[in-house]
Amino acid sequence: ETEKPAVASVAPSSEFEGGARQPPRDAPFYLRSGNEAEIFEQCHKRNLAVALKGPTGCGKTRFVEHMAWHLGRPLITVSCHDDLSATDLLGRYLIRGNETVWQDGPLARAVRMGAICYLDEVMEARQDTIVVIHSLTDHRRILPIDKTGELVPAAPGFQLVISFNPGYQHAFKDLKPSTRQRFVALDFSFPPPEQEAEIVMHESGVDRATGMDLVNLGSRMRDLTDQGLAEVPSTRLLVATGRLIQGGIAPRQACYVGLISPLTDDPAIAAAMRDLVNVVLVD
Ligand code: ADP
Repeated sequence: ETEKPAVASVAPSSEFEGGARQPPRDAPFYLRSGNEAEIFEQCHKRNLAVALKGPTGCGKTRFVEHMAWHLGRPLITVSCHDDLSATDLLGRYLIRGNETVWQDGPLARAVRMGAICYLDEVMEARQDTIVVIHSLTDHRRILPIDKTGELVPAAPGFQLVISFNPGYQHAFKDLKPSTRQRFVALDFSFPPPEQEAEIVMHESGVDRATGMDLVNLGSRMRDLTDQGLAEVPSTRLLVATGRLIQGGIAPRQACYVGLISPLTDDPAIAAAMRDLVNVVLVD
């Protein structure tokens, strides 16, 4: 009988105290596109850290949630940003009444409990923050916490997972080679049309025809990068638009507010996108 994992979403700094969320009863839905799950499982078994590369909204976070459930490990997620300090990850002393108590940060908690620690958008964090993971990702598997003088060994099951978007501002190559070479890297991209439609249907509840229309629209919009569209529609946006349609919003309007406005402020590009909506959604 494997223990059901708890999913704790821990925001950095002031939101540390956020407790563990109820474990999901069913496996989080994740449609596999290759043998990424097998590779991840081997990495988990063999104490290898994993980097997930790919555009935003293509399923990286969902994949980690799915794998944590599958492996029966708690998941602790940290959304990285440029203010994230090593202290945010490791922990800090807090004053409680007239006592000083140590409170573990999310990384320290994950190390002690043998959780999967997911550093989402890791490239957003400063390099001097990222180096705290070094001793965890080699044979030592320990986390030194200077402030308490501890060397915390990683409990069995602990695994470090990072994600980043190679097209966005900072590239993986911007990470120090000494950091980069500590990870097995899995490439993610938007799924092929049939599969993406399956995801949109499952996540939003729309029928197959609508799912295919949205995916078709999404893939045509992804070609607009030539015309200057900087951010292409992700699977996440297609799902959100599907939800609006499923909620009774007229499909064209759902596409305007769910797919076009979030992606561009440029009137010419928005017009090109609206033309695509009118071509694809013939009703
Ligand atoms: P990322 O972490 O890459 O930014 P997410 O994992 O949050 O993206 O994916 C965004 C949404 O897209 C998910 O909440 C889910 O609804 C959907 N999604 C994307 N890919 C998949 C997939 N392979 N299986 C199931 N859902 C997916």
